[in-house]
Amino acid sequence: MHDLVLTGGHLLDPANDADGPAELAIRDGRISEVGRVTTGARRTVDVSGHYVLPGIIDSHTHLSRHFGSAEGHGMVAATGVVTALDMAGEIQDLARDLTGGGAGLNVAYLHPLVPGATLWSHDPSEDEIAGAVARALASGAVGIKLLGGHYPLTPKATAQAVATAAARRCYVAFHVGTTATGSDIRGLEEALHLAADLPIHIAHVNSYCRGQTTGDPVAEAQRALDLLAAHPCAVSESYLSVYNGTSARCQDGIPSSAVTKTCLRLGNFEQSEGGLEAAIRAGYARIHHQKDGEIVLAPPADGLETWRALGTDAGVSFPVNHIPSAILLATARRNGPFVIDGLSTDGGAIPRNFLVRHGLMLVQMSAWTLRDFVVKASLNPARMLGLPAKGHLGVGADADVTVVDLDAGRARWSVARGRVVLADGRVEGRGGTLLVSPAGEAAARSRGLAHEVIHREGWR
Ligand SMILES: [Zn+2]
Repeated sequence: MHDLVLTGGHLLDPANDADGPAELAIRDGRISEVGRVTTGARRTVDVSGHYVLPGIIDSHTHLSRHFGSAEGHGMVAATGVVTALDMAGEIQDLARDLTGGGAGLNVAYLHPLVPGATLWSHDPSEDEIAGAVARALASGAVGIKLLGGHYPLTPKATAQAVATAAARRCYVAFHVGTTATGSDIRGLEEALHLAADLPIHIAHVNSYCRGQTTGDPVAEAQRALDLLAAHPCAVSESYLSVYNGTSARCQDGIPSSAVTKTCLRLGNFEQSEGGLEAAIRAGYARIHHQKDGEIVLAPPADGLETWRALGTDAGVSFPVNHIPSAILLATARRNGPFVIDGLSTDGGAIPRNFLVRHGLMLVQMSAWTLRDFVVKASLNPARMLGLPAKGHLGVGADADVTVVDLDAGRARWSVARGRVVLADGRVEGRGGTLLVSPAGEAAARSRGLAHEVIHREGWR
């Protein structure tokens, strides 16, 4: 007896060369039969007219307090994503949401290294970095996030963090920038130089190609592609949204985040708390604001009120991404494979969860085949994160499935580890599963979390 059978759909699974009508059966959280299902099921769902794809993986989200919040789980799940990497995670927040709330997602997180918060300074010693990496893994993170673009470390400390992570087989993602550069194309060049031949995940490549350095976003995207193609040890993702996401927090009258200051400069506003207030009033800076269980970009008056009520410590988005450059980055290939491995959102509780919507638009426009979409949104992210049981629908694989209506450009159903998350367009999932490294298993168990230990394989 299967737990769940999806009938009537068109199954597309590039890793197993499957592309045609097929039934899919699930038992005990795994794919149990593919093709013509011979045994009965507790629940059968007719997905006629839709495509049955390996579960969509968003390799860049925000679900914890640093840049996100609890609402992110439902916002992600509503789009058909079943696995999310929280890029600045916090075990307290995730433990609360994965037990008492959540939306049934698989969630892994990276622990952020932030000077003045999780590190003493912007130039930590080798020992301090080693301690931070060890604590991150023991608390349940699968790795660390370097937030150089917002809160930079010195180039030396950045290189040390990458080396320490590699030695511990700890995942490391980098929002580029150090005390010597910024969140731009020069920062990307420096990041790849500092990482040399060590594994690194370059976060949201599109955000370094806004024309900040040369005034020409498309030329910067071409440069980013050349740099990444020359560094095969680096994996990367990019997203398709005009809005970025950053912090509106100000200290002593100045925005704390370097990204926020750059956005104010790009919009011709003063790089101060007063400049940020003017940008909010003008509708250029959009404060993140809770409404009906979701986070939305607030209109100016509501945004100002929220920003003031939170003592400036709110999230904010600026329309600074250049879409032609972002489309070039998402679709570019070198000798066959995509240069940038994954399509992501940098969303979650930042309201721009457009992975499925904009990814399927590229398919509708014939910029991608649907197979390309699966590669960018499931297979490649599974390989980046070292998850061999995800990204495909072979018998024995994790029962992570996303069913999409290509004409409507959206997901209708999704399943994570055998449990329905999205049911005919409505989020039905609760709780969720934390993916941890072997070092984090004890922490997950002691918090009573549904968890799975991942044993990362090589990069790529
Ligand atoms: Zn992010």
